[in-house]
Amino acid sequence: MKEILISLSKKNKNNKFLKNKFEIKCKCGYSENVTYYDFLAGGRFDLGQPAAIISPFISEYVYDETINVTPLTLSKECPVCGEKMIAVFPLSLENLISILQSQPPDPQMYV
Ligand SMILES: [Zn+2]
Repeated sequence: MKEILISLSKKNKNNKFLKNKFEIKCKCGYSENVTYYDFLAGGRFDLGQPAAIISPFISEYVYDETINVTPLTLSKECPVCGEKMIAVFPLSLENLISILQSQPPDPQMYV
């Protein structure tokens, strides 16, 4: 799964979505902003334990569909104090894959 996400991210290099940033904070007060692209394409993440949740998309025909949600976490050593910083990515693996697959950046890449 991790490899899929890395290669999808690389294919989506020019996708605006991947230019979003999120912040990693350390207990000592240090913080840094990382772009989604750097985070994902660099493989600087770990997959957490998938959790099954009830789908928020309740349809007429499906009453209790469960979907899997796999959190992505990043751990990095703080350059100031050397402690391990752990951040949880704002989107789940499943969300990311569907976003990246639904927005091909450039049709020529698939020729
Ligand atoms: Zn620190």
